[in-house]
Amino acid sequence: MRSADPPDAGTDELRDSPRASALASLREKVREFFDLIVPETLAQHKGRLERARAWRKALYQAGFGGLGYPAEFGGHGSDPAYLAVYEEESRGRLPPEEDVFAIGARMALPIIRDLASPDVKRRFLRPGLSGEEIWCQLYSEPGAGSDLASLSTSAVADGDEWVVNGQKVWTSGAQHSQMGILLARTDPEAPKHRGITMFALPMEQAGVTVRPLRQMTGAADFNEVFFDDARIPRSWVVGDVNDGWRAAVALLGYERVATGTSSVEREASAHIKGGRVPIPVAQLADLARARERGDDPLVRQDLARLYSGETIMGWLGRRSVHPSIGKLWRTQQGRAAAQLAHRLALSGGASWEPDDADRDYFSYQVLNCRAMSIGGGTDEVQRNTLAEKALGLPREPRS
Ligand SMILES: Cc1cc2nc3c(=O)[nH]c(=O)nc-3n(C[C@H](O)[C@H](O)[C@H](O)COP(=O)(O)OP(=O)(O)OC[C@H]3O[C@@H](n4cnc5c(N)ncnc54)[C@H](O)[C@@H]3O)c2cc1C
Repeated sequence: MRSADPPDAGTDELRDSPRASALASLREKVREFFDLIVPETLAQHKGRLERARAWRKALYQAGFGGLGYPAEFGGHGSDPAYLAVYEEESRGRLPPEEDVFAIGARMALPIIRDLASPDVKRRFLRPGLSGEEIWCQLYSEPGAGSDLASLSTSAVADGDEWVVNGQKVWTSGAQHSQMGILLARTDPEAPKHRGITMFALPMEQAGVTVRPLRQMTGAADFNEVFFDDARIPRSWVVGDVNDGWRAAVALLGYERVATGTSSVEREASAHIKGGRVPIPVAQLADLARARERGDDPLVRQDLARLYSGETIMGWLGRRSVHPSIGKLWRTQQGRAAAQLAHRLALSGGASWEPDDADRDYFSYQVLNCRAMSIGGGTDEVQRNTLAEKALGLPREPRS
C-alpha cells in the first residue's frame, strides 16, 4: 500500500539525513512550481494544444515530468520516494491541459518503459514526457471493444517495416496525436490472444486517415482511424512480436489507474467541459444555493452522499486497491452527481437559452457522464474483472 505519509516523515535521525533534506527541497520546488511557474506559463499561451504543450515542457524542464523514468532514457530518475513527493504535492493541482497527455504519460510511456527495447525507449520517452509528442490509444475496433482480443487490424512484416491495414474506432485525441500505441494482429493463424503485437505507430503519414466522431455533447473528442498500408519501422515493437496481449493487458491496468484516480479537486473551481471527472460537490452545492434549494432536505441528503463519495474517491486514489474499484466508484459518482445536477439545473425541461452558461455547462456534464462508464472498459467488464481477478470467482463462460 502506498503510504499517505510524506516519504520524509520518520525519526529525527532520518529527518536530518541528506536524503531527507533532498526530499524536503524537492517538496519546496514542486510547491513553487505550481504556485508560480504554472500560472505564468499558461498565461503566456492561447489555445488548448499550445497551452498543453507549454505546460508539459515546463513540467519537464522543472525536473518533474520524467520522475519514475530512468535518466538514461530521458527521465528524471526512478527513485520512488521522489515520485511520491511529487505526487503528494501535485495532487489536485494539475491543469486541465494535462488531459492532452493522459494517454501518453499515464499509459503508453509507462508500458514502453516497462516492455520496450532500449532503442525504442530512447526514441520515445523523452519526446513524450516533455510534451513534444502526443499519444493516442489504437485499441478498439468496430468488432472488438470489450472483447478486445477479437481485433482484426493487421500488421505484416515487409523488409524494414510493418505494413498496417484495418480500422480503429473511438480513438480519443487521434486528431492531434503524433503517435499511437497500436494493437494489431501479426499471426492470423494463432489463437486470438496469441497472434497480437503492440506497436508505436506514427500518425502523421499518408496511410493514416483520422475522421472525427461527434458525440451527443456536441464535442468531437474521439475519432475513427483508418489504416491503408500505413508504415511502422520494423523495430518499433513494444514487448515481443505475437506477445502483444500481455502488453495490452498491462496497459489496461495503467488505464484503469489513470481513469480511477485522476484528481477531483482540480476542477472544483472552474466549469471545465471535458475529461472524465464527476461534477465536484462544491459546484453542486453552489448550484443548489443559486436555485434556492439549499434548504431542501432531499437535496441536502444527496449532497451529503455525494460528498462522502467524493471523499472516498480521493482516498481510493491514494491507496493501491485494485484499479477497477477506483474506476467503478468514479463512474457511479459521476452518474449520481449528474442526476442531481439535472434535477437542480435542468428541471424546467430539456431546452434553455443558448447564453445560459450555467445550464450549458451542467447539461454537458449530464450527457458526458455516460462516457465515463464505457471508456477504459465498461462497468460490467470492471465487475467481471473484480469477480475473477480480485475475488477468485469462476470465470464467466467464454465463446
Ligand atoms: C469517452 C470514450 C473514450 C474512448 N477512448 C478510446 C480510445 O482512446 N482508444 C480506444 O481504443 N478505445 C476508446 N474507447 C472505446 C472503449 O474502450 C470501448 O467503447 C469499450 O471498451 C466498450 O467496447 P464497445 O463500445 O465495443 O462495447 P461492447 O463491448 O460491444 O459492449 C456493449 C455492452 O455489452 C456489455 N458487455 C460486453 N461484454 C460483456 C461481458 N463479457 N459481460 C457483461 N457485459 C458485457 C458492455 O458492458 C456494454 O454494456 C473510448 C470510449 C469512450 C466512451
